[in-house]
Amino acid sequence: MNSPPEKKYRGRFAPSPTGPLHFGSLVAAVGSYLQAKSQGGEWLVRMEDIDAPRNVPGAADEILRTLQAFGFAWDGAVIYQSQRAGLYRATLDQLAAQGATFACACSRKEIADSSLFGIDGPVYPGTCRAGLAAGRSGRAIRLRVGSAVIEFTDLIQGSIRQNLATEIGDFVLCRADGIIAYQLAVAVDDADQGITQIIRGADLLASTPRQIFLQQLLGFAWPRYGHLPIVTNPAGEKLSKQTLAQAIEVKNATNLLFNALCFLGQNPPAELRRSSQKPLWDWAFRHWSGANVPSVAALQTDGARNSTSKLL
Ligand code: GLU
Repeated sequence: MNSPPEKKYRGRFAPSPTGPLHFGSLVAAVGSYLQAKSQGGEWLVRMEDIDAPRNVPGAADEILRTLQAFGFAWDGAVIYQSQRAGLYRATLDQLAAQGATFACACSRKEIADSSLFGIDGPVYPGTCRAGLAAGRSGRAIRLRVGSAVIEFTDLIQGSIRQNLATEIGDFVLCRADGIIAYQLAVAVDDADQGITQIIRGADLLASTPRQIFLQQLLGFAWPRYGHLPIVTNPAGEKLSKQTLAQAIEVKNATNLLFNALCFLGQNPPAELRRSSQKPLWDWAFRHWSGANVPSVAALQTDGARNSTSKLL
């Protein structure tokens, strides 16, 4: 019997150039890279620089240099969201033509005052859904979620179910400052780049149903998702620029890669910690096991420091 060939695995790493890579971003890069490469797949890098006010000058180039120095090799050219506004606008127009969007005049404060809280902040109370009140003008563009309930099986976190109406609400596709929202840009890019598997941090798990909902509305293929545990500092906070996570340093590359593998539940032989990068990567390509990645949303580590400190 002739069945259609399985689509070739295509994964990606999509950093935002808001600062240098830290140990948390290294973990996401390592997980997505090995999951792709261990299956003979491609691994793309996309610079998520759509949110211009958050970009740090020079960070995109520095991220790429760091990835290279850590031994990552991406397939194809790096794409930059800042150069793709036309594609996002066209998709927004398509959704508007489908009657799926509406203009919203509400300020952040008005929405917060509605006192409905979901998993990702205030739930939009629907104020402008049936049209703008007299004298008010639209600021943002939102997507109607209706009564959508999204269910999927995450490769790492298992079965996920989200009621978009009660947990998220009609969400923003174009912000009041005119910037295209992450949820729309990422859904468009993943489809446009033919991504088949998305391995990223569990801080994005709550966003995935919104992206799947967009994929459904737009008739896009539905990639598989796997959400890695996120790295937290000893205070339990996600490593990020806001929590002053340290940049990873190339001089510690092998050690940090070793720590990232341990964090992801792999068990590299101890002597590889002090080897050069190549034997460690060779070991990782041969032994990577997605099934060994801990199925928890967050794990604490002090491996975030550029030291040989023990994990957990
Ligand atoms: N740009 C996002 C971040 O750096 C990642 C988005 C994604 O992987 O979908 O957190």
